[in-house]
Amino acid sequence: MEVFTTIQHLRSFLDHQIELRKTIGLVPTMGALHEGHITLIEASNAENDITVCSIFVNPTQFNNPEDLLKYPRTLEQDLEILGKTGCSAVFAPSVEEMYPEKTVVKFDFGSLETVMEGASRPGHFNGVGIVVSKLFNIVNPHRAYFGQKDLQQVAVITRMVKDLSFSLQLVICPTVREDDGLAMSSRNRRLDAKERSVAPHINRILQSAKNELLAGESVENVVQTAKNEFDAIKEFTLDYFEIVDLLSLQPIQKVGPAGINAICVAAFLGPVRLIDNVVF
Ligand code: AMP
Repeated sequence: MEVFTTIQHLRSFLDHQIELRKTIGLVPTMGALHEGHITLIEASNAENDITVCSIFVNPTQFNNPEDLLKYPRTLEQDLEILGKTGCSAVFAPSVEEMYPEKTVVKFDFGSLETVMEGASRPGHFNGVGIVVSKLFNIVNPHRAYFGQKDLQQVAVITRMVKDLSFSLQLVICPTVREDDGLAMSSRNRRLDAKERSVAPHINRILQSAKNELLAGESVENVVQTAKNEFDAIKEFTLDYFEIVDLLSLQPIQKVGPAGINAICVAAFLGPVRLIDNVVF
């Protein structure tokens, strides 16, 4: 496995792979790797000759300076994990390499970013759009792999690929969970023991909301019940709990046909903000 910190060195490696007619898969991450990331690498390995995993804690997508400062950075451990996955190349650039100058281009994803993560984290999706489009242009992959865990990110990037005619295929992989149902996240390691013990309630509440909706309960009642459940667990501060249309991400009043409904949640446990979702 090769490790690159500069665009130039990564590019000359990839140019050579293209001459050899190899296909390239890209897995963008912010590191502190867990099994969720590994499933993306494995999916890429299965479909491409070369897998590039990028590890870059992208400052432009953090609206909260403390979250950026405290974001876990475990490059050495990450490289060890990646070495065992069959990943061909790691791109771990510095902030200066990615942003020699402050970018002036801005992304506006319209109604896709006025809700949920976009509403709670102003500027977040501009940062995501900037870094992902840079990575797409740097790596020029045949396929790029993202997790369903970040459902709104998937919607935004899908739209960006369409609007800007990026010539690549997006592959979306299911959310990987701990045995107790907690969605794997790099931020989970910041939870203390008590917070970690209540964290699985996020998935439990999502699942019971889904079941109530499928049993015919109204969206309004289900949202209220879920909010009450979060309120009853004192460690949680709920940010949002939304039942939305999977494509538009706008709140729905009534459940639609199978596969187009999503329940999305963001909640704080102490200073740590966790997100999760279920699609049904
Ligand atoms: P991150 O390092 O958190 O920016 O995540 C990098 C990629 O891994 C994103 O596409 C995420 O959606 C994906 N990812 C993060 N957590 C999970 C998970 N538990 N299951 C599947 N994919 C995930």
